[in-house]
Formats: sequence, structure tokens, C-alpha cells
Amino acid sequence: MSADALAARTADAFAARFGRTPAGVWAGPGRVNLIGEHTDYNGGFVLPFAIDKTTTAALAVRGDRTVRVASALSGTEAVEVDLDGLRPGAVTGWAAYPLGVAWALEQAGVRLPGFDLLVDSDVPVGAGLSSSAALECAVAVGLAELAGLDGSVRRGGLAALGGPGGPGEPGGPGGLARLDRRALAAVGRRAENDMVGAPTGIMDQYASLFGAAGSAVFLDCRSEEVQLVPLELDAAGLVCLVLDTKVSHAHATGDYARRRDSCTRAAEALGVPLLREVPLDRLPEAQQLLDEETFRRARHIVAENQRVVETVKVLRSEGPAAIGRLLDASHGSMRDDFEISCPELDLAVDTAQANGALGARMTGGGFGGSAIALVPVGDLDKVRDAVLRAFASRRYRQPELFTVLPADGARRLL
Ligand code: ADP
Ligand code: MG
Repeated sequence: MSADALAARTADAFAARFGRTPAGVWAGPGRVNLIGEHTDYNGGFVLPFAIDKTTTAALAVRGDRTVRVASALSGTEAVEVDLDGLRPGAVTGWAAYPLGVAWALEQAGVRLPGFDLLVDSDVPVGAGLSSSAALECAVAVGLAELAGLDGSVRRGGLAALGGPGGPGEPGGPGGLARLDRRALAAVGRRAENDMVGAPTGIMDQYASLFGAAGSAVFLDCRSEEVQLVPLELDAAGLVCLVLDTKVSHAHATGDYARRRDSCTRAAEALGVPLLREVPLDRLPEAQQLLDEETFRRARHIVAENQRVVETVKVLRSEGPAAIGRLLDASHGSMRDDFEISCPELDLAVDTAQANGALGARMTGGGFGGSAIALVPVGDLDKVRDAVLRAFASRRYRQPELFTVLPADGARRLL
């Protein structure tokens, strides 16, 4: 569905639910990560892009401090709370995402009015395409604008950065005017970390807020510096095919924490605060210092970080058709060294690679979720059919296959 059609549907649902027209409808896109997996919490580089699947948020302010939130995905029954009662632990379920955003904005020094909110989405939920950040960012840009902070937010993209490259300083002197997209990314992350209780990094919110059509978002997770990198798939005759294995990654919290621990241990042994500081040529030394498994974990991070830098270079010099080998190498590293893939993801990637994809890899945290494949338009049907057949012959659950394009970041639609 087009974003505009989704926005119109969301406005209608808002009117039906709350009996008045919304003040506006804002969109936050989902994302895929092109390359750079688990590098975020190691202070490294990531290269996601915002996709043409979005979450929409219809909003209208109220005259009191009451908040009512409803989602088309949850039967549109509204959750009602008082803004003054918001705190971590006070809200559970899906409403913790939008209410977490409201709470984090107020924590950042923004005084919000009460509001009614209705959200809708065509981002698949729980598929590793970050429906969570899409929801947070749609609500964050909408509330920021309603609270009168739109000056720096509405322009979008890099132009929205406040000050000379510095992060926003909400709550500080002049803080409100400088509540820019970096600050909104922090708000989204805080909602997810503190209100929902998911210990995620900053990548997803940056992708959703800084994405631009035809571009990938090159993010340095240590400095939070952002650069847009050309990713014109259309012009290159390519599509990005998402292969959603439907394998739930929800059980993976323990594995995720163990990977983080391995990275912390490796960094300590190598005398650096973050594995991002380790260059490729220190790997032989790392192999001496670390046990076999921890070494492989570290090798993935160090090499993956390098692959992100290399991918950016190749995109700028040769274009997307030349990055396939980097995607393939990334998947091999996640499968063998970091061990976060699963049989379904490996099958999706192997089958895509064998049937015309220029490159393929799992994307997101791993242990399930989605893979992506870079496919020449003419080979799309072949790849699709081969993957469906391969899954059927192993009696795996039928995967969901769809293409995505690099799209604009969070913005007002209506
Ligand atoms: P992912 O971000 O990979 O899609 P997460 O588990 O991080 O998976 O986030 C999914 C959760 O976000 C859902 O379980 C739900 O609570 C919430 N969510 C996302 N989009 C919506 C929506 N449109 N309506 C209601 N809840 C949503
Ligand atoms: Mg998520």
C-alpha cells in the first residue's frame, strides 16, 4: 500500500475511533540493515536504509493531560492513561512504545499536551524490519510537531541536524528549538530501552529518522555521525528482496546478551573500550589472547566493521551491483563466527545466491527474522520460486517474500 493511502486509512480510523478529525498523520518507516550486524553496540559502523513500508500515527491534542492510544493492529481498543502517571513499569504491551515516546519526550524537557493517537502500519511486526522503531519514530515526529518543536524536525534528513553537527540538547538552554532528529532518535531508543525494556542500540531509530529515497544511512555508532550514501537500486536494475523466514527471534534475548558479553570480554583482553578500536591486523594477536569461541566472535565484529566501510566505498565508486560479495561474506561471518543464523536463514541465503542474487545475508539481530537478497529485476521470479520450493521441500514454514526500496525517513503525510 502507498504511504498516502495508508495515511488516509489511518485518518479515517482515527475519526471512527475518536469522533473527530486528527490534526495530522505522520509516518515512520521500517528498515533493513544492508550490512553491519552487531557492530552497533561495539561502537562500530552500520549501513541500514529506511524502507517503503511505514507505520502511520494520526494525532490530535486534547485540552487535558489524558492520553488515549489505539492501534489498527490491536483491534483499535484504546489504552487510556494520564501523562503524569507515565513511568517505566507503568505500561505493558504494545502501548509501551508510543507512551514510552511521550514519557521520554517529557523526560527530555518537553511539556506535552494530552493527545489521542491511532496507529496503523504495513511494516510486518516482529520480522526484523523494526516495526518497533517505525512506531516510535512516527509518534516522535508527530508529537514533536504538535508540541511546537517542528522547526528543526520537519525539514528532515541531514538538514534537520541542530547546531554545527552537535547532538540536540533537549532541556538545556535553547533546548527545545534544538530538539532535532538526533534527539528524537534518543527519545525513541529511551522509550524502547526503559519503557519497553528491550536493550537495543541506536541504529533502527537513525534509519527511520534519517532515511532518504535512493540512499542508505551510514551511521557511526560511536559518534552518531550520519552520512547518506547513494543506493539507487532502481537505476541499477536491482531489487532488494526480503525473505521473512517467519522464525520468531523473540526467544533470542539470552543469546543476544551472551554475544554482547563475548564482545566486552574480547575488548577488555585487547585493552580497548570497544571492539570498534581493533584494526584487522590485530586479529592474529587477538587469536593468541582469546579462547577459540571468543576469538571468532571478535573476528566477526572487526571484519564486519571493515566490510561496512568497504561497502560504502564500493557504493560510491561502483554502485550497488558491486557489493554482492560483501553481503555474502557478511552472512558467512554471522553463520560461522558469530553464530547468529539458523537453518531457515541459511537456506534462504544459499538458495538466493544459487539462483541469481548478486549477494544475500541475514539482516537484524539473528536467530530468525529476515534475510535480504540483492537481485537483478529479471531474476526476481526465479529467486522467489526457488526459495519457496526449497522451503517446501524441507517442510519449513512458508516464508514471506517481498521487495523493498530505500525510502524517505519519518515525516508528515497529512
Ligand atoms: P520488530 O521491531 O523486528 O518488528 P520488535 O519485537 O522489536 O520486532 O517490535 C514488535 C512490537 O512492536 C510488537 O510486538 C508490538 O508490541 C509493537 N508494534 C509495532 N508496530 C505496531 C503497530 N502498528 N501497532 C501496535 N503495536 C506495534
Ligand atoms: Mg524492533
